[in-house]
Amino acid sequence: MPEGPSIVILKDAVQQFRKKKIIEVSGNSKLDIQRLKGKTITDFKSWGKHFLICFKDFAVRIHFMLFGSYRINERKETSSRLTLVFNNGELNFYTCSVQFIEVNPDNIYDWSADVMSTEWNPANAKKKLKANPAMIVCDALLDQNIFSGVGNIIKNEVLFRIYVHPASKVGELPSSKLKALIDEARNYSFDFLEWKKQFVLKKHWLIHTKKTCPRCNIPVVKKYMGKTNRRTFFCENCQVLYE
Ligand SMILES: [Zn+2]
Repeated sequence: MPEGPSIVILKDAVQQFRKKKIIEVSGNSKLDIQRLKGKTITDFKSWGKHFLICFKDFAVRIHFMLFGSYRINERKETSSRLTLVFNNGELNFYTCSVQFIEVNPDNIYDWSADVMSTEWNPANAKKKLKANPAMIVCDALLDQNIFSGVGNIIKNEVLFRIYVHPASKVGELPSSKLKALIDEARNYSFDFLEWKKQFVLKKHWLIHTKKTCPRCNIPVVKKYMGKTNRRTFFCENCQVLYE
């Protein structure tokens, strides 16, 4: 599943279609996608894992879910969910969720919750965390209302980076660790972005999918944890459990 930084990469890659008119539409989406024909894209936006194609008075929301993908100026063999053709190229989306948003995205999205956004607000994140003291940190990081854009890889790497055990309770974290959690959720996301652009992301994983802790040289624990039961990798020796 693409995490926030991957959506930022997509947003950069499609800038050639900004202010361009859609001349042809196809795809197996059940929505009335033909309404997009003849429309001009005003902007592309992202909110965490949501990719938004904006028009004058509505927007298309793409969510890649688990298996979604896209191609720019090329096609996959499988049929697309949504294809937009312009006079300078085309944009194809596969196995993703497509929805129309009939209002201005500014009215429904809290940009300050997006860890990649220039409007990211760490004080807001802190307030939301303080309101959920019993929540465990591996759930907190995946909560899109607090850390929009953070996915499972970022979760595992951030907790390893700050030496915090994934089952720690938010309310039990010392204030320095709470601050580190908030700061590194954003910092790691930007590292992820750079590494992903250079095709070296996996090489930089320290704990995610690893068998041995690089700090302690002992086996890494792999457990399905939290409300969403996601794969969690951690070291029981150097990641402290606060409970
Ligand atoms: Zn360790």
